[in-house]
Amino acid sequence: MESFVYSGHPARVVFGVGTSQSLVTELERLKKSRALVLSTPAQAEDAEALLQTLNGQGVGVFSNATMHTPVGVTDDAMKVFEELGADSVIAIGGGSTIGLGKAIAYRNDAPQIVVPTTYAGSEVTPILGQTENGVKTTVSSPSILPEVVVYDPALTVGLPVGMSVTSALNAMAHAIEGLYAQNRNPITSLMANEGVKALKLALPRVVQDPNNLKARSQALYGAWLCGTVLGAVGMALHHKLCHTLGGSFDLPHAETHAIMLPHTAAFNQSAAVSELSVVTELFGGDLAAGLYSFAAELGAPLALQDIGLAHSDLDRAAQLAVKNPYWNPRPIEQEAIRTLLQNAWAGTQPT
Ligand code: NAD
Repeated sequence: MESFVYSGHPARVVFGVGTSQSLVTELERLKKSRALVLSTPAQAEDAEALLQTLNGQGVGVFSNATMHTPVGVTDDAMKVFEELGADSVIAIGGGSTIGLGKAIAYRNDAPQIVVPTTYAGSEVTPILGQTENGVKTTVSSPSILPEVVVYDPALTVGLPVGMSVTSALNAMAHAIEGLYAQNRNPITSLMANEGVKALKLALPRVVQDPNNLKARSQALYGAWLCGTVLGAVGMALHHKLCHTLGGSFDLPHAETHAIMLPHTAAFNQSAAVSELSVVTELFGGDLAAGLYSFAAELGAPLALQDIGLAHSDLDRAAQLAVKNPYWNPRPIEQEAIRTLLQNAWAGTQPT
């Protein structure tokens, strides 16, 4: 076996149906008693309901979390945090809400309890992406990593089927890139293969019956593993391309990942055959083709043109994608990236 370095991030993970009822216990473990509950406007009611379960150990709700963590929103949340004398945050929601909790913790080191309701995986990474004046920057720090993650599958049954599918494909993308990461190791690869397998088995059942708690549990378990891989090793072409498309063309996060995944897999799969062998077999012997038909069968969006990218943007997207060099198993050339983007824009089977 080759030598490797495995660096795990410390986090307490509480998993299972009904675990969101244990938040008071988790606050007590952290020796905190004045939590500010965070959510997006769409989940404000869930946040208020959660506040009511805290036996007086919550001081209020800030429900204006916004995609890509605008610094102005964090400023507003910090004011509320200070005015209410909060000593911790509880974020209930997806990557947008979790991003706000991380941004607060990055400024004041408040302990975070996170209750994820999507499969994006942000809750187990020490990474924060935030935007100011339209520019997205990324920072990484131990203070950003949430202290406690409470995965309650019961809270994911309300995640609309379309978002469940795209969010789960977003999670799979973390694992698939983790498998060929330069700093991969046997532990992250174990988690990546198991995470993709769990999501692959769970998703058709989630689509068929979104209230199926067994399927929801399996999907959330897979999402946790895939997110952990994202937090532990470096990402490559897929994440760089999605970052460019999201940041420069304002495309929605999960949908962009879902559309791009078969195409980035097609680009890289011949350069990482042995690293991808387990997931390739899982998807019928051709990872890219298998991912594409899997996404199509689940009703995922397949074309960038359907989520707001103009054909005239493709040249600039390809230029931006190759501007800053980064590691990838296969060398990145602008012409090949332009072809990849053309296929993803049109939604054709990846080549
Ligand atoms: P999101 O958090 O933006 O959620 C999308 C919408 O779905 C929101 O309105 C949300 O309130 C709603 N929603 C979430 N869960 C729901 C549920 N169970 N029921 C009903 N509605 C629900 O989407 P996301 O894809 O989870 O997160 C995207 C953001 O997270 C992006 O800004 C991305 O950059 C960031 N992200 C960061 C990391 C990281 O490690 N830093 C990792 C992944 C994603």
